[in-house]
Amino acid sequence: AKAAGGNRFERADPEADARAITRHGLTNALPAALDRGEFFIEYQPLVHLGDGSVHGAEALVRWCHPQHGVLGPDRFIPLAEHTGLIVPLGRWVLQEAVRQARFWSSRHADGGPLRINVNLSPTQLHHPGLVADTVDVLERSGLEPGALCLEVTESALIGADDDLLKPLRQLAEMGVDIALDDFGTGYSNLANLRRLPVSVLKLDRSFTRGMQTEPADPVDLKIVEGIVSLAHSLELAVTVEGVETGAQAEQLRRIGCDTAQGWYYARPGAPDRIHSLALSDAV
Ligand code: C2E
Ligand code: CA
Ligand code: CA
Ligand code: CA
Repeated sequence: AKAAGGNRFERADPEADARAITRHGLTNALPAALDRGEFFIEYQPLVHLGDGSVHGAEALVRWCHPQHGVLGPDRFIPLAEHTGLIVPLGRWVLQEAVRQARFWSSRHADGGPLRINVNLSPTQLHHPGLVADTVDVLERSGLEPGALCLEVTESALIGADDDLLKPLRQLAEMGVDIALDDFGTGYSNLANLRRLPVSVLKLDRSFTRGMQTEPADPVDLKIVEGIVSLAHSLELAVTVEGVETGAQAEQLRRIGCDTAQGWYYARPGAPDRIHSLALSDAV
């Protein structure tokens, strides 16, 4: 740091200062933003690799900030986590996404309901109201529990004790699916998977990057093959994230992955599009 006129708060990195000020400002603005309805949700389809039909969608929150424009979750979720605002914000996302899913299924002519995936952050996982809130949201919407999948990151569950797993077990017993998000980034013990009440592995994007080209990276291919066969032997479904090319989709389908998500199919977008995609492949 430069010594400047006795002001010991002055630092040599104005950009870092600006970022810190923005962070501070965003953190302070979060509660009012929730009250004013500045958050909205985009939905990204999850597609069956076998036939390309829509399986459901993941809810991804955004903040339409009056000065900064639309902010992605990476900009504000960590701040909301830090201050605890993630609990009411996460409850809002759950409620909104479940309501949306109920609307889709009520309009979905045949077959099962479209499924809705909602992200849970570690603080929400530790919050004592999680099970009651989820039950409440499901009951008020009329969505069947089996149509909801809660995504928890692998890192949030590493070393998790029974106290932390208990609410997830309760939800799983009700029929809610629990997905292990960003799988493969957290160095968890694979044998540990048996202990967790999860029914879906979401394989992180980093694993599928080597498959964007034909031929695919042979090592990446082997690793994904191994994970898929292990997951299936534990009766877990495998979803792959970040599918950006047809070559990737084809490789992943051949390997036996169940569902996929990525720009190749659709970017996150307005809820209506999920509905029309689902209806169009129902014909
Ligand atoms: P995530 O759960 O791993 O979500 C997937 C992210 O990958 C999303 O970023 C999505 O837009 C992006 N993505 C999807 N397909 C592709 C692709 O083909 N290529 C590439 N490069 N990226 C793709 P997004 O929307 O910015 O969300 C970032 C993270 O923010 C999410 O990662 C999730 O951890 C968190 N998040 C989003 N919504 C919520 C929420 O409601 N609650 C909580 N707690 N976290 C959320
Ligand atoms: Ca996720
Ligand atoms: Ca993920
Ligand atoms: Ca991720």
